[in-house]
Amino acid sequence: MNRDLNIAIIGGGIGGLTAGIALQKAGFSPRIYERAPEFGEVGAGISMSPNATLGLESLGFGDFLNDTANEPLEQRLYHGETGEMLMAIDRRNCRETYHGAYYQLHRADLLGMLIDGFGRENCVMNQSLAGIDSREDGVSLRFEDGHAEEVDIAIAADGLRSVVRDALFDSDPPEFSGHVAWRALVPANKLGTLSVERLNINHLGTGRNIVSYPVRGTDLVNIVALTKADAWAEESWNAKAEKSELTVHYEGWADYVQALLAAIPGDELYRWGLFIRKPLDHWVSGRTALLGDAAHPMLPYMGQGASCAIEDGVILGRAFAAAGSADEALNIYQNTRLERASTLQSESNLGGDRLQAIVPDAFRNTPVKNEDSLGIFAYNPATVPLKK
Ligand SMILES: Cc1cc2nc3c(=O)[nH]c(=O)nc-3n(C[C@H](O)[C@H](O)[C@H](O)COP(=O)(O)OP(=O)(O)OC[C@H]3O[C@@H](n4cnc5c(N)ncnc54)[C@H](O)[C@@H]3O)c2cc1C
Repeated sequence: MNRDLNIAIIGGGIGGLTAGIALQKAGFSPRIYERAPEFGEVGAGISMSPNATLGLESLGFGDFLNDTANEPLEQRLYHGETGEMLMAIDRRNCRETYHGAYYQLHRADLLGMLIDGFGRENCVMNQSLAGIDSREDGVSLRFEDGHAEEVDIAIAADGLRSVVRDALFDSDPPEFSGHVAWRALVPANKLGTLSVERLNINHLGTGRNIVSYPVRGTDLVNIVALTKADAWAEESWNAKAEKSELTVHYEGWADYVQALLAAIPGDELYRWGLFIRKPLDHWVSGRTALLGDAAHPMLPYMGQGASCAIEDGVILGRAFAAAGSADEALNIYQNTRLERASTLQSESNLGGDRLQAIVPDAFRNTPVKNEDSLGIFAYNPATVPLKK
């Protein structure tokens, strides 16, 4: 295939950047058009399961991850109120079982790694896509500043509220899922010894849970608290929140949870309404393909949203390397990814209610349906057969 194809990637998040790097490895020179004036990630952690790690390693990031991220020894479930440990899932054996590590790291470190890998010079910042026309022979892009571009291929990695998805695929707006995520990073030295162990800790209660794990070595602890709400009344889908609005959900919970909440700096708590969209039965329209959250947004209960976007990016690069034409490459990408991503999306969306339905008093080492037992980790995007 002609390596001079003009490929535009809309959105420079984890999905867009991974796709860009994978296309570069296949010999193409894509450009990323990003709405924000500067790259930035929320101050929060992220977990990368073996399926994502294997993809990132295939793009040359193995050493960086090994040096920067930590590998949890166990994922532990605790009774929210009593603090009793209910279950420990071994994560030490991920390298042996799946040939890829399970990592926890700071989002800014992951994004920084991808930006350096792709090259800032290949990113056009401050470019918000406003409209798109995708044909059999190319794509017209229109940006909010009024300028327009003609490209051969567009990859839409513009997130859950994708302009491209609305224009070409599905105009149903995202729906509030009833789930709310609260996020903060706290210094580990403000907490007890449990916080600095390489663990992923999840305290459970009916209709809520709270996860914590170390990042930046074990200097910081990432907190994600998940609660329910009947509606999302705020205009913005993520907003600064008062600590008292969060602590009310965890009154009477275990000492470790109280220590986590007390350590959150007053002005550094964020609340996110979690929105969902229906799975699509195709992601390609003309010469445009959806990727990452734009294609398959999912609730974060299995920690698979970014991992799935990374899988997409790696497969997209392999599809372009293997195909004889742009159309064939886009079809291979869609055929190889659609079923896998839709499974991750539906299981993740079920995962929250499943987890929060657990009654801690009755739960003792009962087998759980989680990302591991569902076989989600056993997927290597660098080697999985491509589907023509
Ligand atoms: C609380 C929470 C915890 C999570 N934890 C994990 C986890 O541990 N592991 C995991 O794998 N996943 C996790 N996820 C999911 C993960 O964060 C997302 O799935 C992932 O970031 C999606 O990446 P993306 O690149 O597809 O989209 P985004 O990150 O949304 O990036 C889209 C990019 O496109 C840009 N953009 C948008 N519109 C336009 C436009 N019109 N023109 C130009 N640019 C545009 C945006 O500025 C942005 O840079 C979590 C999510 C939440 C909410």
